[in-house]
Amino acid sequence: MSLWICLTCGAEHPDTRRPPDVCAICADDRQWIPPEGQRWSTASDLEVGRTFTVEEIEPDLFAVTVTPEVAIGQRSLVLRTPHGNILWEPSAYISADLVVAVEALGRVVAVAASHPHLAGAAVSWSHMLSARQQHEVPILWNAHDRRWVQRPDPAYVFWTDRHEPVPGVTLLRAGGHFPGSCVLHWPAGAGGRGVLLVGDTLMVGPSGHTVSFMRSYPNQLPLSERLVRQIVATLEPLAYDRIHGAFPGRAIVSDAPAVVRSSAERYIGWLTDTIRDPDEELPANTQHAG
Ligand SMILES: [Zn+2]
Ligand SMILES: [Zn+2]
Repeated sequence: MSLWICLTCGAEHPDTRRPPDVCAICADDRQWIPPEGQRWSTASDLEVGRTFTVEEIEPDLFAVTVTPEVAIGQRSLVLRTPHGNILWEPSAYISADLVVAVEALGRVVAVAASHPHLAGAAVSWSHMLSARQQHEVPILWNAHDRRWVQRPDPAYVFWTDRHEPVPGVTLLRAGGHFPGSCVLHWPAGAGGRGVLLVGDTLMVGPSGHTVSFMRSYPNQLPLSERLVRQIVATLEPLAYDRIHGAFPGRAIVSDAPAVVRSSAERYIGWLTDTIRDPDEELPANTQHAG
């Protein structure tokens, strides 16, 4: 097998003799092709020299971190529920040992990603988990982002605005970054106050007290006011207190709805020129030369 893995976004591509000329996900204006050109690896080459850790970041939520990181470098999350587990943002790296470690947390009943940039080797994950568990593990993919599937497979299950993979866990399409960008709502998380897993739908700032919204993070393309308001409106009815971002350590630990609201107002203020830096106007009573 030589499944081709794009080294920039981590998306796996079908087992063909030669890799595609370019990764369509990276040729899009939200991603990037390196100056020296498209780079590929294979699933087996990625395994060489890499290790992983599995860490419980709050009760029933586990972070899987691969070192050295691959492509975008997100961590995967495994959400444990009484009705089976969800593998969220599957890594591009996959090995037999890692699959065993994930399965040791309990039976995985679905693989899901917030959007195409963080889907990694979703099909390989589905196949390996299905073979070991002897039941089909679907890949939950929003129908709006269907054209970004790079390795078509019968395991894909397309959903539209809302999907409940197991009782008590809901995927909601918020759009914005991709039309199908979604969040995972887990009301039992954060001690029953509720958790959102957000991928790139919201980017958690380094302080843990802000979020941002972008069409492209690497190319710094903003979202419109309409799309930011659409995301906020999707989250508004949800009961949650905490947000876990796509990258290790990025979280809004508590009072996350207030952070989302205030961050959105700030963002829209800059977009619409209703917030201005006060230093644009010099004080009238100061002396200055020209
Ligand atoms: Zn790519
Ligand atoms: Zn993204």
